[in-house]
Amino acid sequence: MEKQNIDWANLGFGYVKTNKRFVSYYKDGKWDEGALTEDDTITISECAGVLQYAQTCFEGLKAYTTEDGHIVCFRPDLNASRMKDSCERLAMPVIPEDKFVDAVVKTVAANADFVPPYGSGATLYVRPYMFGSNPVIGVKPADEYQFRIFTTPVGPYFKGGVKPLTLKVSDFDRAAPNGTGHIKAGLNYAMSLHAIVTAHEEGYDENMYLDPATRTKVEETGGANFIFVTKDGKVVTPKSSSILPSITRRSLMYVAKEYLGLETEEREVLFDEVKDFAECGLCGTAAVISPVGKIVRDGKAIEFPSGMSEMGPVTKKLYDTLTGIQMGRLEAPKGWIKVIE
Ligand SMILES: *Cc1c(COP(=O)(O)O)cnc(C)c1O
Repeated sequence: MEKQNIDWANLGFGYVKTNKRFVSYYKDGKWDEGALTEDDTITISECAGVLQYAQTCFEGLKAYTTEDGHIVCFRPDLNASRMKDSCERLAMPVIPEDKFVDAVVKTVAANADFVPPYGSGATLYVRPYMFGSNPVIGVKPADEYQFRIFTTPVGPYFKGGVKPLTLKVSDFDRAAPNGTGHIKAGLNYAMSLHAIVTAHEEGYDENMYLDPATRTKVEETGGANFIFVTKDGKVVTPKSSSILPSITRRSLMYVAKEYLGLETEEREVLFDEVKDFAECGLCGTAAVISPVGKIVRDGKAIEFPSGMSEMGPVTKKLYDTLTGIQMGRLEAPKGWIKVIE
């Protein structure tokens, strides 16, 4: 198969239309078979549930080429089960998990010419999503839905080298204690936009959100979970029922323990302890881990010993090990790599 003529190494993170996308319709209480289509537009009622009451959720994962030339995805079964949780919380019909994975495989295979080559640093971003599509004016769940997957090639995250981030402890809250913080709902992002625009205007890269009830505990950023490294080399990640369970973070914690022999802890992390950590990173599909150099609260800065020019040593080891597993340079735990072709 001939690859697209794209300058992979210089691609950014923006939408690029690819050949095919997957669509399945839910109507009269059931999902249809679903199919690939070339049509990249959607026509729905002006009164569709998604437009009036934001009934929508999504997932995000990547397809890429491994060292030995296979196109693969990383743990798509976990995206399927997380989307199931999102659907249930938003009163949407669940897309069966095997159907989800099958649709990811079909969509990536149909866009294989857009999967960047090994070593380019670029990947094919895969975006499954679902929304209520029929008219809803009284507040209630829609009766009809579309489950879709599109793909778009994205460039290397650390183009031009790693630059540790500066975070602001946000004055805004992300997710209420019994709210929707633990699911991948579009609404969580809609309400984070004002906060991130404000942070950017003030010169920060990202927001750190604290628990809204007490504002004493670390939750996450708008789209990535935290990991911290203690001065004695323990890897710590915050535990909270309003954090989105990042697949990258869960994989990194496994890698820390099973591949690197490090002690790991998932527990409540007080903001007051943050100043004592040696390293801090943000985990998510896009970057795997981005190092954090500085966190500012009310004008007072915490600066990590790892500094503002490189990843800390443990963060780097975690990054190298997980990306090694993903790219097929290191043996993966059973079931982590889904081979597409
Ligand atoms: C998607 C997401 C993450 C990262 O999850 P991954 O599965 O690692 O990509 C973290 N936090 C939030 C709020 C998210 O929406």
